[in-house]
Amino acid sequence: MLLKELSQAFGVAGYEKEVRELIKEEVKAYSDEIITDAMGNLIVYKMGEGPQKKKIMLAAHMDEIGLQVTKIENDGQIKVKTLGFLWLSTTYMSRFKFRNGIIGIAAGRIEDQKNEFTKLYIDIGAKSKEEASKYVKLGDVASYIGEYIELKDNNIAAKALDDRIGCYIMVEALKRIVKPQNDIYFTFTVQEELGCRGAKVCAERIKPDLGIAIDVTPAHDYPCDLEGSNTLGAGTGIKISDPSVICDEYLIDEMVQCCEENAIKYQYDVIDKGGTDASSINQSNLGVRTAGITVATRYPHGPNSMVNMLDVEASIQLLCKYVDRSFIFE
Ligand SMILES: [Zn+2]
Repeated sequence: MLLKELSQAFGVAGYEKEVRELIKEEVKAYSDEIITDAMGNLIVYKMGEGPQKKKIMLAAHMDEIGLQVTKIENDGQIKVKTLGFLWLSTTYMSRFKFRNGIIGIAAGRIEDQKNEFTKLYIDIGAKSKEEASKYVKLGDVASYIGEYIELKDNNIAAKALDDRIGCYIMVEALKRIVKPQNDIYFTFTVQEELGCRGAKVCAERIKPDLGIAIDVTPAHDYPCDLEGSNTLGAGTGIKISDPSVICDEYLIDEMVQCCEENAIKYQYDVIDKGGTDASSINQSNLGVRTAGITVATRYPHGPNSMVNMLDVEASIQLLCKYVDRSFIFE
C-alpha cells in the first residue's frame, strides 16, 4: 500500500533519496517529464491542454524531521543534533533507526522543561566508542520508528506523515488527472523542515503563475499548546494563513467554490505556529499567488502522527478538481 510505504521510507531532511526513488517509480507512467535537480527535488511535469493555461506548481515535501550524529562518547553514547523541530517529550525514550538499519533509544538527562537537546543521545546498546563506531559514524542520520497502523473511524497513524501524506495526495491526484487544463508541476521537495529550502529553487526554476503547497497542519482537537480550530474528519483544509504565508484571497475563494461545486467537505486552516513550502513559492521570482491544501494532523512531528483518511480523500478530490479550473488574473 503506497501510503504505508511512503511513511516507512527513510527521508530525514537532506537525505530524501529513498522517498524520491519510491515516488519516481510510482509516477513515471503518468508524467510527461521528470527532473531531479541538484538539491534532490523531484519535479514531475504533466502538460496542460487548455487554451489559456496557467503554470501551476504543486509542492509536497519528502523530508521528515530526524537526528544527526555529532559525537560518539567513550561509553558508546551517540550524541545527536536535531534536523528540523522535534519535541523533547516525544523524542525522549523513543526508538530511532539509522539509514543502515541500526536501531537505538533516544535518552538523556533532562534537568528542566526546556526543549533542550544538548544532553540527548542515542543508545544503540554499544558499550564503548570503539564498538559504537563499527555501526554509526559522525553525520549519520536517524528517523523515528513509527509503524503504519489503522485506527478506528478511518484514522491512521505512522511516522513521517508530515509530509508523506502530501506526497501521497499528489501521487494519487497525478494518477487520476487525465488531460488537465493547466500545466502542472508536481514537485516533491527536499529540506522543508530546515526552512523550505527545496521549494525555493523549484519555484525559481518553474516560474509558476500560482503555487499550492500540500502539507499537514496541526489539529487542535487534542490537548496541546497550540490554538486553533482544525479537527480530524472535518474535511480537507483550505489554508488561510500561517506564520510564514498569507494565502491569496482569489485562490482561496476559488478553492471554496471548488469544494462547494463538487460536494467536497472542507475546513478553513488558520494557524499561529509552523509553516510550509507555500512561503517559499509565495516569495519566489517577483512574487507568486499561493494557496495551501492541508490535512489536520494530531501529534505532529512525533513517531505516531494521526490523520483521517476521509480528509485525505477529500484533499485528493479537491486537488484534482482545483488544478483543472480556469484561473483568471494577470
Ligand atoms: Zn510539513
